[in-house]
Parts: sequence; structure tokens; C-alpha cells
Amino acid sequence: LKGDDEHLSSKDKEYEKALRPLSFEDFTGQFKIIENLRVFVLAAKKRSEPLDHVLLHGPPGLGKTTLSHIIANELQSGIKITSGPVLDKPSDLAGLLTNLEEGDVLFIDEIHRLNPIVEEYLYSAMEDFRIDIMLDSGPNARSVQISLSPFTLIGATTRSGLLTSPLRARFGINSRLEYYDAKLLTDIVCRSAGILQTPIEEVAAYEIARRSRGTPRISNMLLRRTRDFAEVKGDGTVTLAIAKMALDALDVDEHGLDEMDNRILLTIIDKFKGGPVGLSTIATACGEEAETIEEVYEPFLIQEGYLKRTARGRMATEMAYKHLNIKPAQGLGG
Ligand code: ATP
Repeated sequence: LKGDDEHLSSKDKEYEKALRPLSFEDFTGQFKIIENLRVFVLAAKKRSEPLDHVLLHGPPGLGKTTLSHIIANELQSGIKITSGPVLDKPSDLAGLLTNLEEGDVLFIDEIHRLNPIVEEYLYSAMEDFRIDIMLDSGPNARSVQISLSPFTLIGATTRSGLLTSPLRARFGINSRLEYYDAKLLTDIVCRSAGILQTPIEEVAAYEIARRSRGTPRISNMLLRRTRDFAEVKGDGTVTLAIAKMALDALDVDEHGLDEMDNRILLTIIDKFKGGPVGLSTIATACGEEAETIEEVYEPFLIQEGYLKRTARGRMATEMAYKHLNIKPAQGLGG
């Protein structure tokens, strides 16, 4: 039940696409960001200029890709999609940039993972809409300047802290997406159920919502799995009882923590006396990558108050002990 898209099956991805809102109007939540983007998009259109470059950051599954598509739609522009790790060489980037039409959006996911050499080329592209390409090497080497059509770069990242400052400085619009509350996620679940033509009780939608780690991608995934239970174990309607049965079967606990969330907390408490313990040690003990723990699991556990980050490492809080029904040893447990 990870919130990142690397772990989605092709069917899940297809389903995600079908549920993706297409306009600002359709997009639920993140009100402040949407309100600002509406103004910036309108102003850019009025001036017939490309929209300023946009940086979207926040944990996976909160709608960065969705928002980028919406921005392109609202600008009535085309969108080209790529990601940091895919742009291996400057020529990969040059190929993309020279194919952009005026006002197009270039979406670079995981922009913190750009190769530094490619990133350097991006600076002049973003600033002056030109790139200098080196032709040949050795004594014949010469640089050729290519002008680009003015475009908007939208960069998405789960780790804005890893962005270099020259890159960060080139984004005129910088928005951080927040976790969604249960009410907003209930609206998203109901909207998705409508698109899937799945009847759902409002209380069942709320149950799925409040156990979705604040993440629309997870809500949609849980809805889909719950729908399977409704069709096999019920009459097709997602009722509260069906939702609870499905969520339990999927190891999503009462507070919306999934199996890995619980494993992380239990490891810190059980193996490291509640911490502080370093991230890489936790990762090894849990059999998960440190990066995934830091990007996917930790932000939610910290926000909900189960985990603390200290200078000496991660610590389980009193709430984590309570959640797991473990008595803290004296002086431990935050
Ligand atoms: P990642 O960084 O992992 O790619 P992301 O932040 O780009 O994640 P999206 O792919 O945009 O996330 O969204 C995941 C799913 O959640 C999509 O199916 C999308 O339809 C749905 N979703 C996201 N935000 C919203 C929203 N505000 N309203 C309705 N659905 C949403």
C-alpha cells in the first residue's frame, strides 16, 4: 500500500488515469495552491506569456502529476512528461526541449534526481530559453546556441531539500502539497466511486478516507480493492461492514497505518528501545530502503505524532507505544 507510483501495477495506473481530475474545478483540496495557480495561469494567458516555472513538492500520491496536467489543460497547452533519472545525458534534455512548442509544459518528475550535468543545461533553458550544445570534442569542439520556444517547466519532487539552490531559485512558483484531511478524502472517494459506477455508503467512504494516510492515491487504491470485496462478498454496494472487512484484510489498521508503518514503529521500540536510532539502521532492520522510509512513511508518522526526528536519530513517541499497546520502559518513549 505504498503511496508511490513505482509500486503500482499497470491496471492501477490505468485506473489512476481514469480518476484524475482534469480542471482546477475538479480538483479537491489544496485550496490555497489552487487559488494562487488560478491567478497565475490567468495572468499568463492575459499577457500571452508562458506561465512561470512551477515547483511542486510533497509526499507521493498527493496530486503533483495531476496538478501538472491540470495546469497544462488550463493553459490550453501541450504537456511533455519525463523524470529526473530518465534524463541521462544533456542530449536527452536537448531533444525534449527543442521539440516543445510555444507555451508548452515540460513536466519533470523526481527533479531532485537529475544528473548534475543535465541540470546545468536546464539553467539557461529555464532562464533565457536557450541551450548551448557542445559539438565535437577535442580541438574541433565548439559550442552552438539553440533558441527554444518559451515554455513552462513544472518540477515535482518528494525531497525539495535535495534540490540545489541554483535550480530552486529558477522556479517562480513554489508550492508544497499537504496531506488531505478525512473530509476531503471522503469527497475524493465518493467522486471516484461515481466514476467507477460503484454504489457506496457515505460512512463507508469516510472509513476508507480516514484510513488512507492522508493520500488520495491510497484512497483510490483502497476503494478499488474494497469494490472487489463488495462484488464478491456482498451485493456490489460498498457498505461500512464491507469497507471494514476489506481494510482489515489489507492490513490497514484503525488509524490508517499500514503494515510497514507499524513495522517501523515496532522496530524502533522493540529493537532500539524506542530510539534515537539512525534512518539507515531502521531501514536495514525493516528490510526497506532508507529513501522510501524517509519519503513515504516518515512524513506521515511524524505529522500524526508517532515519530520524532531528533539530532541523534528517530524516536518513537508515547503515542506510538500506546498505538502498539506497549508499555514504555522508564525514561524512554519520548
Ligand atoms: P507521485 O509523486 O508519486 O507521482 P503525485 O503526487 O504525482 O504522486 P498523482 O499521480 O497526481 O500523485 O495522484 C495520484 C492519484 O490520486 C491519481 O489517481 C489522482 O487522480 C488522485 N488524486 C490526487 N489528488 C487528487 C485530488 N485533489 N482530487 C482527486 N483525486 C486526486
